[in-house]
Amino acid sequence: MAVEEKIPSIKELLSGYDKSNLVIATICSHSSLQIFNGARKEGFKTLGIGIEDRIKFYDAFPLGKPDEFFLVDNYKDIPKYVEELREKNVIIIPHGSFVEYLGAENFLKLELPTFGNRRVLMWESDRDLERKWLEGAGLDMPKQIKDPKDIDRPVIVKYHGAKGGKGFFIAKTYEEFEKLVDWSKPFTIQEFVMGTRYYLHYFYSPIINEGYRLKKGSLQLLSMDRRDETTIDELQRIGSISELEEIGIHPTFVVTGNIPIVMRESLLPEVFRMGEKVVEKSIELFGGIIGPFCLETVITEDLKFKVFEISARIVAGTNPYISGSPYSDLIQPDLSTGRRIAQEIKYAQKHDLLEEILS
Ligand code: ATP
Repeated sequence: MAVEEKIPSIKELLSGYDKSNLVIATICSHSSLQIFNGARKEGFKTLGIGIEDRIKFYDAFPLGKPDEFFLVDNYKDIPKYVEELREKNVIIIPHGSFVEYLGAENFLKLELPTFGNRRVLMWESDRDLERKWLEGAGLDMPKQIKDPKDIDRPVIVKYHGAKGGKGFFIAKTYEEFEKLVDWSKPFTIQEFVMGTRYYLHYFYSPIINEGYRLKKGSLQLLSMDRRDETTIDELQRIGSISELEEIGIHPTFVVTGNIPIVMRESLLPEVFRMGEKVVEKSIELFGGIIGPFCLETVITEDLKFKVFEISARIVAGTNPYISGSPYSDLIQPDLSTGRRIAQEIKYAQKHDLLEEILS
């Protein structure tokens, strides 16, 4: 079945909704503290879909706690409860764990209004389509090496669907690749780009026309971070990578946290240019990315950006900025990505534009 046929009509999903009484909901994981906190600041009621033994922790953070918990035994069961959730007028805010726990298929079919454009899922989760989108937007991506025998420089090998860099490895030659690869899993080989990593957090509104304007709507840069990844980011404390590799210890890329960062200012125009192109291409390809997205980049020593990935929803890297970032502070004090999402919904609610930003 084509993706389009799976996604329910937003008009139908919103029918029967009391639009003056919307509730912001998400799964209690990932960036939910920030989502609930931001929604609360904009005056929304919040609902957290959670599993019994995972929710106690919210008591530790009263300002990030949802007004109501909706308990499930398993996140995969959420589709069973759509009627009950619809009666509560919930708008789902998808985050990385939401899509992962529910599964991409179930997420596409979910009969609840969700923030953003669900069609983006197939474009970001398939590495070939993602490349078509980003290169089509004129962004520079790390070179892809189709045949491992052609490895002639340091490469990073990525298994498909591996989240948070799990199982990725570096190789410098075919021999090294062959020693480490698991042939049973599909993988992509990418040039390992030398440089500094910046994860850029944007917000695109198709309905608000102020600030940095695009052909349609406007683009904001809300913050940026660098991920803290184990063990690659700490290896130098005990020796060089090659020394360690000789004794069979290989660096890994599992994300354990996020570090706030501010970029050299002269690079900002390029940051906006890239964001703008990505949005414009997305409108052409699938009707547009809506709301928060993140470009994952490496800046090389000649100050060029290489973009190795896009995440098409709120990313954990925005979490250091619950009370604003050095960039969002220049838009409005106390503006997190979670709060910005709530503002977008509030604006759409007020101007009868909900169908433009939900799917
Ligand atoms: P997520 O979905 O959480 O964003 P992922 O599992 O899809 O992660 P990537 O983000 O593609 O994985 O890569 C994981 C990490 O590997 C990056 O954060 C970065 O540190 C490193 N990395 C990825 N691609 C490259 C590259 N081409 N050159 C250098 N480092 C890279």
